[in-house]
This record gives sequence, C-alpha cells and structure tokens, in this order.
Amino acid sequence: MWQFLILVSVIISIYILTRISNQSRKAIKGNQIETEIVKCKVCNLNIPQTEAIRVDGAWCCAKKHIH
Ligand SMILES: [Zn+2]
Repeated sequence: MWQFLILVSVIISIYILTRISNQSRKAIKGNQIETEIVKCKVCNLNIPQTEAIRVDGAWCCAKKHIH
C-alpha cells in the first residue's frame, strides 16, 4: 500500500512542477507582447515601442524628429 502512496505523491509533484514551468513560460510570453516593434515615420527604423515617441498618431525614434 505505501508503494502506491509514493507513486501518487511522485505523480502529484511532477504535475505541480509542470504547472510552475508553464506559468513562467506564460510570463515570458507576456513580456514579449509588451515590447512591440514600431516603425519610425521619419527614418523608417524599426524600434521597440518603449524607446519610441508618439507624435501626431505616428511613431518617432528620437525627439529631434519633432518639429
Ligand atoms: Zn527616426
């Protein structure tokens, strides 16, 4: 009987470990979605949205483009 209990506890621990790894993978995917690549309307450079500046409904890579 105790051998069966060990088998069940091993299965449960494997299940928990796979759930934890799936959750961390989802977190990585979520970060990738947040950094979207946008194109600068002035010099057509592809840059991360976090480094871009929004000007008149379009994206710009640097403040020097704003007139
Ligand atoms: Zn630019």
